[in-house]
Formats: sequence, structure tokens, C-alpha cells
Amino acid sequence: MIDYAVVGSGVGGSSIAAYLDAKGYKTVLFEKEPYLGGCSSTFMHRGFSYNTGATTMAGYQEGHIVKSMFDAIGFTPELISSDPAIVIIQNGKKTPRYRDLEQFLAILDTHYPHPKNRDFWTLVYRLGTEFYAQQGHYYSNSSFLHKVRSLTSFLPLFFKFQRYLRVNGLAFIKQFYGDITGEYLQFLESQVLIVAQAPLKEINFFTAALSLGYTFNETHYVPGGFGALFDQLTATMQNVQRRTEITGIQKQDDYFLLHTKRSSFTRTVKAKNVILNSTVYDSSALFSQDRIKRYYKPYEKLNNHQSSFMLYMTIKTDKLFEHHYQLIQNEPYPHTLSSALFVSFSDKNDEKLCPKGHYSITASIHTDERWWENKVQYESQKAHLQEVLTKSICDILHITNDEIVHCFSATPKTFKQYIRRSQLGGNPITMRNFLPKLPSNNTPIKGLYHVGDTVYAAQGWPGVMLGVDNLRKLLHV
Ligand SMILES: Cc1cc2nc3c(=O)[nH]c(=O)nc-3n(C[C@H](O)[C@H](O)[C@H](O)COP(=O)(O)OP(=O)(O)OC[C@H]3O[C@@H](n4cnc5c(N)ncnc54)[C@H](O)[C@@H]3O)c2cc1C
Repeated sequence: MIDYAVVGSGVGGSSIAAYLDAKGYKTVLFEKEPYLGGCSSTFMHRGFSYNTGATTMAGYQEGHIVKSMFDAIGFTPELISSDPAIVIIQNGKKTPRYRDLEQFLAILDTHYPHPKNRDFWTLVYRLGTEFYAQQGHYYSNSSFLHKVRSLTSFLPLFFKFQRYLRVNGLAFIKQFYGDITGEYLQFLESQVLIVAQAPLKEINFFTAALSLGYTFNETHYVPGGFGALFDQLTATMQNVQRRTEITGIQKQDDYFLLHTKRSSFTRTVKAKNVILNSTVYDSSALFSQDRIKRYYKPYEKLNNHQSSFMLYMTIKTDKLFEHHYQLIQNEPYPHTLSSALFVSFSDKNDEKLCPKGHYSITASIHTDERWWENKVQYESQKAHLQEVLTKSICDILHITNDEIVHCFSATPKTFKQYIRRSQLGGNPITMRNFLPKLPSNNTPIKGLYHVGDTVYAAQGWPGVMLGVDNLRKLLHV
């Protein structure tokens, strides 16, 4: 019997599996796909490689969560620093988000001048620094008592930042600035959306400040694509089962029976503990027992249907590009929820990801998964959006048609087919969906755990890794 069956190899699943394996527990990591990483994986299409979704890593620096978890695993990734973390282009104005506050302020003041800019961004900078220095909190909801107890561990954090936790991001910014142009507000709003996954009016200012300030920390590019990092992270693990989907789980008295969908591997596996890296609102489908289904029921409504449309491109050119751009236009793109497009380029020297002289491009924009359900319109809608986004990228970043070697797109339906989820980017922590309502990394069912961006703490590398660390504490390992 194995100690831990980890279902899914996303950021959460791979990290906790590598950690438990390094600690000597008999651990098996199951992944439905041939490649690891889920939303942060790398795949091949017609001979070219692409990052599937995520392209940038925050949190790998001294005192931050990704580095401390990797250190605990004994893993040192190969990384390239990105500074500026991102270049924002709006109405022809290019604003690099430099890590250095003064360097950023100098360019911000030329593009979006305002006497309150320095005070505002100094506050954003300070809140980030103070938050990352806070430690000692954890979250559990295995029982009412555990939940209340764990929530008290957040009290110091709450008291310190309460002023910014109680007010919504939009109201705070409008009040702070007094008068603020629509253009500058859109500049702020677009940056918040890609981190917090929610508009300013739905989140508290503290979350908004952390979202706006992540670029003041170190951000990294992964050579070879994120897939390479997952391969390295799990390289010393004894048992990684790729192409193996878990189709059902039965709770027995003191172990779980997992059913797999791969003929070459044992059809059922016994595990003392199960850690699910699948989305929490879909997980009840894996179980038949009523008690477990009842546990998941309240979380089904967490699916907000927010997803991504992806454009993948390989170009051949001798032009130079930064790692990441955000292109903001005045109106939302058709069939999307946003007027901002996030475009990532491979590093010019990254010959592991694409051939010399080429760039691998992954571009993403928010959409609603339900807008891709109409079978009649699906193909034409997809082709239309692909064309519009390609034109935007080419026009704004000066790429010519003859430099495009390969180009295709993916919809929420594509994500569902490959990694079993179409709601993407995690579950935002909003004014309504705040801490006590979040599903935790443990459950009231003995031996059943969760990790990933739909449970505590949040999305992205730092958010998911906070959950991995929380789970590690709850498991006492
Ligand atoms: C377009 C896009 C861009 C993003 N950009 C960034 C970024 O630049 N930086 C950043 O930090 N974050 C980014 N994010 C967010 C980040 O990618 C996610 O929050 C994170 O990768 C989610 O990790 P996870 O642990 O929840 O696992 P997931 O990514 O959800 O992976 C779960 C895995 O489990 C597997 N699985 C599911 N069910 C089963 C089963 N029954 N059996 C076996 N396997 C199963 C799936 O195939 C999948 O591989 C982005 C997300 C998207 C969608």
C-alpha cells in the first residue's frame, strides 16, 4: 500500500508529491497527460514547443514561498531573471514594470502623470514587503473547531492590514487619487486582473496592492518552458505515472482504492492518503459515497466559468523582445472578458524551447467558458478571435506576417479535453469569497486532501505554493 496517491501534476500536485517523496513517504504521482504541469505545462504542436498557460514565476527569492518550498524539497531550478517583469503597452505608451520602484516611477510619471503617484506606489510597495514578512498563519477546515482555531492565526495579519482589507480596490484607488483618468484606471485594472483574476471592484484593496506590486519582487523565466521545471522537480521520484487518469476513488475503512484508466498499470491502487490536485468543484464526480459528495456540494458553486483563450505562435526573426507584454486596448476583444492581452516570448537564447532565431509565443486573454459551448459557432468564433489577436500582436509589436512560422489557438474546450478543467486561473479571493469560505487543503474525510488553485490559498505559483506549505503543516511532515 502506498502512503500518498497524488492525483494531478500541476504546481500543487507535483510540489507536494516531490516533497513527500523526498521525506521518504511511498508516494505515487498520477497525471492524465504525458507531460506534467497542468496549466503550467509545456506541450508540442507540429514540432514546436509552447508553454500551455503560465509563463512567469514569482516567489522564487529569499524569504518567499516558492523558494522556501523548493529548498524544503532540495530542488534548485534553472531560472532566468525577468526585469522588467512585464512591459505594458497602452495607446502607444510602453511602461516597463521594473523591479526598482524609482526606475518604474520615473517612466510612470511621464506616461500617467499624477501628484499622488509616488505615495500610491510607495504604499503598494510597502504592503507587499510587509505581507511577505508575515508568517505563522495556517488554514484548516477539517472540523468547525479546527477552522476557528486556524482563523485565529490570521488575526495579526488582519489587524495589521484591516484598513486595506475592508475597502474594495476600486473605491480605495478612486478616493486615494481623487481624480483619476479612465486610461490610468484601465492600466491598473488590467494588471490586477491577471494576478487577482477579478476586477478591482470585487476585491479588497490589500489584494489589489499585492497584485499591482508583484513586479517589485523577483520574477523568473524558465528555460525550456515550465515543463522542463516539472521534469526536474520530479526527477528523483520513484513513481510518476504519466498518461494515467484516476477515474474513481472509493473510501474504505482506513485506505482509499483508486481506479486508473491505463491498461499498462495496475487497474486499482491502494493508498493510505489521497491528495487531489483536480479542481475542487469537480472532485465529487470521483467519489460515490454520499458523505464525500456532501462535503463537495457547497464548493460546486465556486466555478465562476472564467477561463482563457490562448494564441500560440512561433516566429522567426532577428528582432529583440522582452519576456512578457500586456497589450491594452480601449474596448474588450470580441468573445472575451478583457481589453488586455498577455503575450509571452521565449528567451532569445532559449534553444531548449525553440530553434535558434525563433521565438515561441504564448498569449492569453480572459473569456467565459460558456461562450464556447455553441457547436455551430465554435470554429468561426475561434478563427475570428485568433485573427483579431494575431493582428493586435503583430501591429503593436511590429511582427510581419512572413515572420510567422506557425500559429494556432486553444479555447476553454481545449483545456477541458486535456487537463480536465475549463475554469482557469483559480478562484479569486473577493470581498464575497474570502478566507473562511475557502476550501482548505484538508477535508473532514480522514486521509483526503486537496492542493491547487481552487483551494487555499490562491492561484499562480506563489498562491498554490502557499497551499502546498499549508498542506505540509497540516500533514505534520
Ligand atoms: C492562461 C494562463 C496563464 C497563466 N499565467 C500564469 C503565470 O504567468 N504565472 C503564474 O504564476 N500563474 C499563471 N497562471 C495560473 C497558474 O498556471 C495556475 O494557478 C497553476 O498552474 C495551477 O496549478 P494547480 O496545482 O492548481 O494544477 P493544474 O494546473 O490545475 O493541474 C492539475 C493537473 O491535474 C491533472 N488531472 C486532473 N484530474 C486528473 C485525474 N482524475 N487523474 C489524473 N490527472 C488529473 C490535469 O491533467 C493537470 O495536469 C496562469 C493560468 C492560465 C490558465
